[in-house]
Amino acid sequence: MAKYIFVTGGVTSSLGKGIIAASLAKLLQARGLKVTIQKFDPYINIDPGTMNPYEHGECYVTEDGAETDLDLGHYERFLNIYTSQSNNVTTGRIYQTVINKEREGAYLGKTVQVVPHITDEIKRRMLHLGQTGEYDIVITEIGGTVGDIESLPFVEAVRQLQWELPEEDTVVVHLTLIPYLKAAKELKTKPTQHSVKMLSQEGVHPDIIVCRTERQITPDLRRKIALFCNVKMEAVIEAMDASTIYEVPLLMMREKLDIICLKKLDIQPTNEPELTKWKGFLDKLKYPKSKVTIGLIGKYIELQDAYKSILESFIHAGAMNECQVQVINVHSESITDDNVTEKLSGLDGLLVAPGFGLRGVEGKIIAVKYAREKGLPFFGICLGMQMAVIEFARNVLGLKNAHSTEMDPETKEPVIDLMEEQKTVTNKGGTMRLGAYPCTIKENSLAQAIYGSTSISERHRHRWEFNNKYLEAFEKAGMMASGKNPATDLVEIVELNNHPFFIGVQYHPELKSTVENPQPIFVHFIKAARTFADKRNEAKNSMLQGEMI
Ligand code: GLN
Repeated sequence: MAKYIFVTGGVTSSLGKGIIAASLAKLLQARGLKVTIQKFDPYINIDPGTMNPYEHGECYVTEDGAETDLDLGHYERFLNIYTSQSNNVTTGRIYQTVINKEREGAYLGKTVQVVPHITDEIKRRMLHLGQTGEYDIVITEIGGTVGDIESLPFVEAVRQLQWELPEEDTVVVHLTLIPYLKAAKELKTKPTQHSVKMLSQEGVHPDIIVCRTERQITPDLRRKIALFCNVKMEAVIEAMDASTIYEVPLLMMREKLDIICLKKLDIQPTNEPELTKWKGFLDKLKYPKSKVTIGLIGKYIELQDAYKSILESFIHAGAMNECQVQVINVHSESITDDNVTEKLSGLDGLLVAPGFGLRGVEGKIIAVKYAREKGLPFFGICLGMQMAVIEFARNVLGLKNAHSTEMDPETKEPVIDLMEEQKTVTNKGGTMRLGAYPCTIKENSLAQAIYGSTSISERHRHRWEFNNKYLEAFEKAGMMASGKNPATDLVEIVELNNHPFFIGVQYHPELKSTVENPQPIFVHFIKAARTFADKRNEAKNSMLQGEMI
């Protein structure tokens, strides 16, 4: 049977509970334990799939097609394992299950209440992954902040589990903030004391307190936190701001977070965690030998979380290439025919991001044209691939009215069209083409060179697709469908024959990039960007030399 670690948060949101949970999981995994992480979110949406990225950041998609919180992306990137629908549960999903059961008459005439019915359903789901026999430890991150009305049933479920399970089967880790007051030149513990008090009032006493802080916590301060929050001194963990999230496992190892958890769980720690690969990655990340500048063309760029997995994939691929990847955000709405050169001429590569709806698409199309004509490495993801198709149709095939029926339902040239099975869909939630599908790659294509294989599987989240009625014309003119779904013929990858690196994919490769397995398209894209940068520098140098002569 598995043991359970619960991670709660206090004082404020955005303290990085997901990163702390993932780092702890990484350390335990590196000690040879089988670990998974799940996130319980207190909002009423069934899942974040219907939320605007401005609202909730990126919607992460798992192999089994669940639309989930972006923290699951961190879990997969850190642990190099797959998560699933079971790893992300919301209040909405809990209530939906309970209400459906009530309609079936499963409660046998009882009054259905938050306690015990909602809390029982929360507990059932909290225990579920631990009962599959696949894991030694299940870490559960509780979203939101302790004290919120909506997180109460979750904290109550943790309280009950602490009481029901053997003492050595649960640990509660509470993450708080120790703010530094500039005027007083002091770190302040009061908010932490209050948040632990609030958690205790709800019946849960934390075993470990992880303190986010900008400055080091002195031994005196540790003693104070330990005394007032009623935990052992060693259970007060300092979590200093780190230069990269990938350093946090090492910071937590120094603070012995894993050892303290294992002690409480009565698990004998093995030798040191095996982190050779992880440290190798960090070294490459910290000491790059070259640098490239990539333009990220999107419409949600004000909020970095909207493109989380893409940005993390660049970090993995950059380290693999020992190359620093500077990402410049370019708002797709700001690109016009007149300013495109000024905006994009300093770049070594262009990534056109996924997205939905009309806003900003013309800017994306102009950016694709620039990359195609200038030989600038291009990588289009989902909507980015669809824009590359539209650009090619308009400017190479001469189909001036080419568009996607998503943006222009009446277009005369629907080169991107709604998938057949989507035409009858009316509900918005969970109804896109979601999750992993196989893709067969053409021999001798760029895609085959990238993947080193002709048979791959990637994750999806879309409703529209390449319209195969146009495929022959596209391939004759030089845009090839190098990857297709073997069962449906749906075009998954397009690429250009006469371009150094031009690839568009209908799927989301960024969802499968991890520290240990950087995603191959990202790796090759950065390599191509480096070649492009080198050539540009050579040209610049010879021009300068020419001037000197
Ligand atoms: N809006 C497009 C579609 O649904 C692209 C989706 C995406 O970029 N994730 O097909």
